[in-house]
Amino acid sequence: MTAQMIDGVKISTGLLGDIARDVDAFIALFGRPPGLAVVLVGDDPASSVYVRSKAQKTLDVGMRSFEHRLPATTSESALLSLISELNRMEEVDGILVQLPLPAQIDERRVLMAIDPEKDVDGFHPMNAGLLATGGEALMPCTPLGCMILARSVLGDLTGLEAVVVGRSNIVGKPMAQLLSMANATVTIAHSGTQNIAGTCRRADLLIVAVGHPEMVRGNWIKPGAVVIDVGINRLAAPELGPGKTRLVGDVTFQEAIKVVRAITPVPGGVGPMTITCLLQNTMLAAHRRSASGKQP
Ligand code: NDP
Repeated sequence: MTAQMIDGVKISTGLLGDIARDVDAFIALFGRPPGLAVVLVGDDPASSVYVRSKAQKTLDVGMRSFEHRLPATTSESALLSLISELNRMEEVDGILVQLPLPAQIDERRVLMAIDPEKDVDGFHPMNAGLLATGGEALMPCTPLGCMILARSVLGDLTGLEAVVVGRSNIVGKPMAQLLSMANATVTIAHSGTQNIAGTCRRADLLIVAVGHPEMVRGNWIKPGAVVIDVGINRLAAPELGPGKTRLVGDVTFQEAIKVVRAITPVPGGVGPMTITCLLQNTMLAAHRRSASGKQP
């Protein structure tokens, strides 16, 4: 059996086209584009690349981008006052604060300060609670992207055995909730799970978000399973030249490809979907705000 590569770049390109059309329709109706504000504190190189890429894609679909780059020494109160200003700005529909934040800033307090209706990352406890209770939440972007990728191969997920490895607030937990809402039978594995290989081998759909390079081996995977690899790990790659690096996922791709029905590559799988779902959420937030009269 030849394994299918789940092409996140191709799927997200199609969705970005849909979003751009939606933006045009929104402008025609309301006379302004949806707006996304991205806030970066400090100069972490990986975060800086993500922020640049988010801002560029925001502009590409015709939305307005508000980029705020603050020094690493920024105080919590300065960041909180920027957030309350963005909360008040009518032309801003979505606010994203790039994580991680420097040690002097309490991440939880910052996430709580974002207006839940503009919380396009879906990290505010109000949105996490709405997701858990079946309400109209803004949902975290990476799990939303994983759902689109999984459905692109499997269609309806009803009755499937799904295993999510990792239980973080931003990926694993909401992932498990979305799968359960889609009627999959869901197991969450984590660092306390015994026989993690055997647990993974039960999965028709295996979603891995642990942050350990190539942890999941080929013999952990049920033959014919669909695997979504969320992990992004940068490893030294001296074979490519001095100082070179390469990206790998949380799954040993070369082993998995021999066993699976379909798998996401790293890079080019989940990563592009995360930004696309962020723009989808911004569109959704803009529509909800306009429907509730909270925009010009
Ligand atoms: P966290 O570090 O917040 O969470 C990792 C989770 O994995 C924890 O729940 C932890 O369990 C679990 N875990 C760690 N070690 C093991 C182990 N040996 N066995 C079983 N479970 C284990 O990471 P994130 O969820 O934020 O990110 C995970 C990965 O996904 C990272 O590589 C990150 O870079 C990537 N990522 C990719 C995105 C994308 O757009 N493609 C977006 C977000 C993240 P416990 O709770 O018990 O400690």
